[in-house]
Amino acid sequence: MKLIFIGPPGAGKGTHAAVISEKLGLPIIGTGNILRESVKAGTELGQKAKGYMDAGQLVPDDLILAMVDERLKAPDCANGYILDGFPRTLPQAEALTAMGITPDYVLDLEVDDSIIVGRLTGRRVCENCGATYHVVNLPPKQEGVCDVCGGKLTVRKDDTEATVRERLSVYHQQTEPIKAYFENMGLVHSFDGSGKVNEVTQALLGLLEGTR
Ligand code: AMP
Repeated sequence: MKLIFIGPPGAGKGTHAAVISEKLGLPIIGTGNILRESVKAGTELGQKAKGYMDAGQLVPDDLILAMVDERLKAPDCANGYILDGFPRTLPQAEALTAMGITPDYVLDLEVDDSIIVGRLTGRRVCENCGATYHVVNLPPKQEGVCDVCGGKLTVRKDDTEATVRERLSVYHQQTEPIKAYFENMGLVHSFDGSGKVNEVTQALLGLLEGTR
């Protein structure tokens, strides 16, 4: 099964992708995570991407498409995957179609901008395994420590209020149009992403497991 999550930054794409990945045994292809790892490792891609990411801007399509094309060829993608954070522009969505890939479901998480700012500025991420938390909505058992691996929780560099507002503006201008693209293909299922994490997860699983 091939799934795509769409929705603004902070809508919960990564959080829900993690649960669905576990339940359905699908790998997550998170372009933001791959890029952050490339930055950390100091690769050529990472060096090219860093400035855009820190400013809340999108990394150019050609870099992203080469990266995704490479990743989707890996053996673990043979039986499907979850795309989180890709496609993010109309040319990226069109490139996916040109690669012969049609997702089974496009899962659209809807959350108002006013909620997003509070969510992202309170987000904490494990610097070791990438698990995400929120200081109020999803706190770890022990402050500053990852429940999953015991790693240190940090604030993402692009989760400051000014950068979050820039990312939201980029989202509305460049990413929102891909919803209409997939709607025309009859693939979009929209969910209210502002509710409790486990309720949204249940709604998503209801669709995917055919019980909704
Ligand atoms: P994310 O973790 O999905 O919020 O992504 C973090 C940052 O990585 C974004 O703000 C962009 O700078 C970059 N990025 C991730 N995915 C893409 C993409 N599909 N196209 C362009 N830039 C991306």
